[in-house]
Amino acid sequence: MSRYTYLLFDADDTLFDFGAANHNAFAKVCEYCGLLYSEELFAFYESINQPLWHQLDQGLVTKEFLVVERFRRFLGELGIDRDPVECNRIQLTNLGLSAVLLPHALEVVQTLAQTHKLYIVTNAVASVQRARLSGSEIAPYITDAFISEEAGAAKPSRAYFDYVLQRIDGITPENCLVIGDSLSSDIKGANNAGLPCCWYNPKGAPRPDGLRIDHEIRDLRELFNIV
Ligand SMILES: [Mg+2]
Repeated sequence: MSRYTYLLFDADDTLFDFGAANHNAFAKVCEYCGLLYSEELFAFYESINQPLWHQLDQGLVTKEFLVVERFRRFLGELGIDRDPVECNRIQLTNLGLSAVLLPHALEVVQTLAQTHKLYIVTNAVASVQRARLSGSEIAPYITDAFISEEAGAAKPSRAYFDYVLQRIDGITPENCLVIGDSLSSDIKGANNAGLPCCWYNPKGAPRPDGLRIDHEIRDLRELFNIV
């Protein structure tokens, strides 16, 4: 008997290499804007983009607002006259095309799917994440994916995890495990919903105060000993 029958995996930066996908997509946006892609330009974009995602985690902005606003501000700061809606369309289309997996993700998912039920729990734009999942090598091993945009709630809210638990037969707060890299959405969310959690911390970041972390791993293969 496994300890945790139902495994709820975060997608970006837990199974998928979001960084690689994000860089590639942003390079396409630069092309459209007549900009030369560089690491510095990407860092500048992220300095605008990231705070907006934190505001989303806190419920201060909507995803619809965020995805266009990040490019509106980016273009405004650079004084470039291009359409932020089109920038976002290019970004999302190219993100959806990229399904680069992190090291050992495929091996771990393939192995665990023989003994467990695997799900994706992700804060994301539904069209992007569905495209990426269906085009990915891990698709055959995933029972279902719960995407915040479709749930009408996002991690770390309890409402999001209630939505997920209501849709999985046999799941209880004792027999599932939330696995993710983000303290503010995955681990905080599991805390809010009273679910066991595993922090995927590949870079060995310091453990924070004030959050319950039941398991911590630096390599996805460590899950074999936990679940
Ligand atoms: Mg993540």
